[in-house]
Amino acid sequence: MSDPVPAPAAADGGEFELIRRHFDRGPSRRAVLGIGDDCALLAPPRQAGEVFAVTTDMLVSGRHFFPDVDPEALGHKALAVNLSDLAAMGAQPVAFTLAIALPDADGRWLDAFARGLFALADRHGCELVGGDTTRGPLAISITAIGSVPQGAALRRDRAEPGDDLWLSGELGAAAFAVRCRDLGRALPPDDPALARLDRPEPRVALGLALRHFARAAIDLSDGLAGDLGHVLERSRAGAEIEFDRIPIAASLETLPLAERVALALGGGDDYELLFTAAPENATAIAAIGERIGLPLARIGTITAGSSLRVLDARGAPIAVPARGFDHFAGGAPRATQ
Ligand code: ADP
Ligand code: MG
Repeated sequence: MSDPVPAPAAADGGEFELIRRHFDRGPSRRAVLGIGDDCALLAPPRQAGEVFAVTTDMLVSGRHFFPDVDPEALGHKALAVNLSDLAAMGAQPVAFTLAIALPDADGRWLDAFARGLFALADRHGCELVGGDTTRGPLAISITAIGSVPQGAALRRDRAEPGDDLWLSGELGAAAFAVRCRDLGRALPPDDPALARLDRPEPRVALGLALRHFARAAIDLSDGLAGDLGHVLERSRAGAEIEFDRIPIAASLETLPLAERVALALGGGDDYELLFTAAPENATAIAAIGERIGLPLARIGTITAGSSLRVLDARGAPIAVPARGFDHFAGGAPRATQ
């Protein structure tokens, strides 16, 4: 689209110079045709039975992050949240597009943003093949494309009563960092909770390894209770969780139980994978965790019915935070980073 307001110009050029300088890294390796034409050209997945997995996530200044966020961390996170969605489907990342609205063309900001973006992209062999650049309040929308054998995709609607419920990593650190900032309590810059918030690590290797072993999966962006709720709704099932089996970040250790529950079950931005699997796959799944060096915990069971029950060490029910974060549920806008 041609904009009535010109797109931000690079110091000595226009929109196209900005794209060339910061985002175009030469001839494409994964696409038939990359940046520079009206469309990128991607060959369909090579192996029979493979399908494309496509996902989009948008990050808006003032809503998902503060305008003064470290641009390198923002570049990482904008792609990480999309790769996390691919991981949750068991998809292998292939390529992505980047739509970005910029208030101005700050070369140093763009350099740092691109550094964070491409460092993660290169680690996963995921190539930037196109996008759109416009002037406007800072916002970033990435569409990521992966490939997965159709029957092996880890869908939300596949959980079955009797499945084990598994969780990667630990919960609560990112929500703890947001809470501290909201309370005006600065964390030391090297606090691991800040790294969890700024630089989530998409669990791509885990998603790939879980093909054929897990049944349903989801990545945790909006809090365990809300995101598990999506799986239960889609699968028409319930779940029972033992709270003490949920690995909780060390930063939360000294908090009262009620706060640990709120941050671990209701907090967001964890980007861990929550998945279900038949009990006979438990040994294989534990071995996957060992092999990729990521702790995997069996935190509960999928049940018949539709309720989510969380039990304490004595088997008494713990009140579950009503739902994860919902952008349209009312309340003031909040930035999480
Ligand atoms: P059109 O107007 O035909 O949509 P553009 O002029 O917006 O094309 O973009 C020119 C080329 O640069 C296209 O190949 C587009 O995909 C690519 N591009 C634009 N912005 C970005 C970006 N932020 N990152 C990567 N590629 C981009
Ligand atoms: Mg365009």
